[in-house]
Amino acid sequence: MNVVVVGGGIAGLVAAHALRSHGASVTLVEGSDRLGGKIATERIDGFLVERGPDAILAAHPGAKWLAAELAMADELIAPEPPGGVFVYHDERLVPMPEGVGFGVPTRFLPFLASSLFSPREKLRAALEVFVPRGTVDGDESIGAFLRRRLGDAVVDRLAGPLIGGVYGASVDELSLMALVPRLRDAVRANGSLVLAGARAHLRGARPADAALLAPARGMESIVDALVARLAGVDVCLGVPVTRVTRDGARYSVALDGIHAIGDALVIATPAPVAAALLEDLAPAASAALRAFPYRGTASVSLGYAADQLGAPLQGHGFIVPEGALAMAACTWSSAKWRGRAPAGAFMLRATIRDGRVLARDDRSLIATAHEQLARVMRISGAPAMAHVARWPAAMPRYTIGHLDRVRAVDAAISHHPRLALVGAAYRGSGVPDCVAQGSAAATRLMEMEGVAA
Ligand SMILES: Cc1cc2nc3c(=O)[nH]c(=O)nc-3n(C[C@H](O)[C@H](O)[C@H](O)COP(=O)(O)OP(=O)(O)OC[C@H]3O[C@@H](n4cnc5c(N)ncnc54)[C@H](O)[C@@H]3O)c2cc1C
Repeated sequence: MNVVVVGGGIAGLVAAHALRSHGASVTLVEGSDRLGGKIATERIDGFLVERGPDAILAAHPGAKWLAAELAMADELIAPEPPGGVFVYHDERLVPMPEGVGFGVPTRFLPFLASSLFSPREKLRAALEVFVPRGTVDGDESIGAFLRRRLGDAVVDRLAGPLIGGVYGASVDELSLMALVPRLRDAVRANGSLVLAGARAHLRGARPADAALLAPARGMESIVDALVARLAGVDVCLGVPVTRVTRDGARYSVALDGIHAIGDALVIATPAPVAAALLEDLAPAASAALRAFPYRGTASVSLGYAADQLGAPLQGHGFIVPEGALAMAACTWSSAKWRGRAPAGAFMLRATIRDGRVLARDDRSLIATAHEQLARVMRISGAPAMAHVARWPAAMPRYTIGHLDRVRAVDAAISHHPRLALVGAAYRGSGVPDCVAQGSAAATRLMEMEGVAA
């Protein structure tokens, strides 16, 4: 079988590798001059700067696929001790209470002892055990669900910045059913989130979502390992695909003046690009794909000498309630991961998603991030290294109705069994989700050929 894969981010790379390893003849077409998409690592003056993702969820099957298939298990490192995340509250950093799983406090004593909430707010959260299970069957926002159960304070100071930070949007617009249906399942099964969490804690379960891993040499070593395994794949770089048509039973992909022909086609680009590519071939799918919302983000990485900081970093960073600072969160990269800063230095990475802040130029973004970090963390002097990675309209937002939008696209391409759409827009936006989608698409297409994958 000949397969054309459009898009050389992690989803497209995994699909190309998996298809090739099962005997398909593969052409991988990437619009930019490099492979990896959002995964990009830079070394600047001894600092290891991640432009995009900096870690993967260890428990995800996609992460296990990477470790096994790319023989990377020895390269993956765990976060450095001591862990712990702070919350920016009342102009200072307050430790997040222990035992918070997906923004939900699951351990009574640390929650009661936390200075993050007033006694009244704690009481409101504790009353969650009496909130009726609810009758909403369709989708709703994570924010609406959690506000009803735990009150506004827990959502605004914990769940909002935590979940919104991971998925790049406000919890008041993010889809409960697409992202955390297990929260509703927990209420249906236990009557209460707090009780469900407490029971899980007593059984010895720890929040699996918290267990992260990262390659010691940075996320791009995942891309390097995949690229090293692409022998036999015809890789075309710097050729943005503009159109996909049907040539009899085969797909024809228009490149710069030439055409790549495949019996099957994997589109692994962001949804708006997929929408444009499918305009002629599958107009209904194209229209459905245009409804997928995106948002921009930027990472500002700042490096300092250790003696610029009043006290050593004791934790992995802090999250920020919406609108309280220009940044939505700050990862203390060099305290969280070894090898991110040269000896005697440390590195911080601020995530900026506020559209008004993103509109400013790089100098202003750096100045704002530095000023706010200097104030909050008592840093003296200017950064020795500053780097801005911008991702305009790059983060798919899984807002309410996301699953319906994905179903609409699936229905619209159901008469194209040899066409697969994979990547961050559809069935999970994390790197391991994209890995799983690329691998699953390859398996499905090979099974259609009668090849056991
Ligand atoms: C700042 C940031 C931080 C993140 N942090 C994390 C994290 O810590 N952990 C985590 O798991 N995930 C994280 N993510 C999410 C994750 O990195 C992405 O969702 C994932 O890498 C997307 O992979 P993809 O293959 O779907 O798409 P992409 O990486 O976007 O790849 C798509 C590819 O298609 C190419 N393309 C586009 N148009 C065309 C065309 N016309 N023709 C040919 N090629 C085209 C692009 O150039 C690109 O290479 C983060 C994302 C960002 C932006």
